[in-house]
Amino acid sequence: MAWDFSTDPEFQKELDWIREIVINEIEPLDLLKDEMSPEAWRRATDPLKEQVKARGLWAAHLDPELGGKGFGQLPLALMHEILGRTPSAPNIFGNQAPDSGNSELLAVGANEAQRERWLWPLLAGKLSSSFALTEPHTAGSDPTGIRTNAVREGDGWVINGLKWFASNASVADFVLVFAVTDQDPATPRHRRASMFVVERDTPGMTVVRDVGTMAHPYEGTGTRHSGGHAEIVFENCWVPDENMIGQPGDAFMLAQRRLNGGRIHHAMRWVGQCRRAFEMMCERAVSRKVGGTPLADRQLIQQMITKSSIEIEAFRLMTLRAAWIWDNQGPKAARQAVSEIKYWGAQVLHDVLDRAIQIHGAMGYSTDLPLESMYRTARNFRISDGADEVHIQQVARMILRNVQPVDGYPSEYVPARRAEARRRFAHLLDSPDGAGQAAAGTEAGK
Ligand SMILES: Cc1cc2nc3c(=O)[nH]c(=O)nc-3n(C[C@H](O)[C@H](O)[C@H](O)COP(=O)(O)OP(=O)(O)OC[C@H]3O[C@@H](n4cnc5c(N)ncnc54)[C@H](O)[C@@H]3O)c2cc1C
Repeated sequence: MAWDFSTDPEFQKELDWIREIVINEIEPLDLLKDEMSPEAWRRATDPLKEQVKARGLWAAHLDPELGGKGFGQLPLALMHEILGRTPSAPNIFGNQAPDSGNSELLAVGANEAQRERWLWPLLAGKLSSSFALTEPHTAGSDPTGIRTNAVREGDGWVINGLKWFASNASVADFVLVFAVTDQDPATPRHRRASMFVVERDTPGMTVVRDVGTMAHPYEGTGTRHSGGHAEIVFENCWVPDENMIGQPGDAFMLAQRRLNGGRIHHAMRWVGQCRRAFEMMCERAVSRKVGGTPLADRQLIQQMITKSSIEIEAFRLMTLRAAWIWDNQGPKAARQAVSEIKYWGAQVLHDVLDRAIQIHGAMGYSTDLPLESMYRTARNFRISDGADEVHIQQVARMILRNVQPVDGYPSEYVPARRAEARRRFAHLLDSPDGAGQAAAGTEAGK
């Protein structure tokens, strides 16, 4: 009977240690981050990173040959649930986006020389990276329509185009760029684009600005500690052949590899955010009095608490199940479950934060609590990494792919099913045509 919701006691010790360092060391530092220079931040966080490495938990999403733990998705999910509480924890554990996904992409596609040049320094935290697929003038939801292109010149490629929302690009040492290299209409649409590394300061690549967003409403190029979501112009930007990752036409396959595992980790980080907001919600409900009694006594507040608790638990279990399918049946088998949690989890996070703000009234809306900033950040999750509608469509397609159409009445059509049951159980009936049914019912009811 292999149906077990418990955590291995040995691994629970690791999770307890992670919780301790996240709540007691990283959360307080995050409150002061904006008051620190990048140098002061490094001084504060480098010793923590060393502790994480000594504990063997650095970059745990990677396989052992890449310096990680090869934990599998389920333990990672349990880790990320704790790391998700505060923004800098993933960085201090060596698995912050976009570097974690980019390192997975390079691990799949890079040759030995490329690994030496970009992957190992990225994993060691000596380089930082960005990923540029989305464009302002084509739909990111359908990357087969992108316009940025690369054409052959000499021993390399010339890239032209416009990208935006490339997270971290304004401070990154290199950008992974998704560009069309094959314009032949006979080539399948998913084989027309290739992936290039473009290093910082390469002539022809210009980071124009960090786009202002709900989370960071002010435009700028680069922030004190990390890049925002950059707009980048490529104008006759030449890169040598050795900067292509994988083979021509591999960009879709590589981008897919980058996204899927990351979605499980994202989802568990959202569970961590939900829990933090939920704890705040409950504390406020039992503390704040209205008309002489705590908010907790009001049924409308109880509904918010109960609904949030159930939604968070359902989301958590769905995410752990997605991780379990991935570990036991492989990434392909987990695709539906991953899309389901991406869509459902972003919604749950949004709704739980909304209720937590509501219960705190004006204070919830203020910057005196972390809720408003968590809420502004959470809104993007319904768009980035695939908009809600794209995941909904994908799930429905996967479900319906295995459903057979019927001619005529539905399979559950009662008259037909009853007729079949009568034929099968005729020997038990008072009269085979059903005429004795009413009398039998009356008898049974006595
Ligand atoms: C905070 C943040 C960080 C990001 N980081 C990166 C990054 O590092 N690198 C990068 O390349 N990109 C990044 N993105 C971009 C992100 O991947 C895209 O925004 C996303 O893929 C959607 O593309 P789009 O914005 O072009 O919207 P569109 O594709 O134009 O879609 C707009 C809307 O149309 C609707 N829609 C789309 N498809 C369908 C459909 N099939 N059925 C019904 N409705 C549909 C949805 O409502 C969708 O929100 C980031 C975005 C955000 C917000």
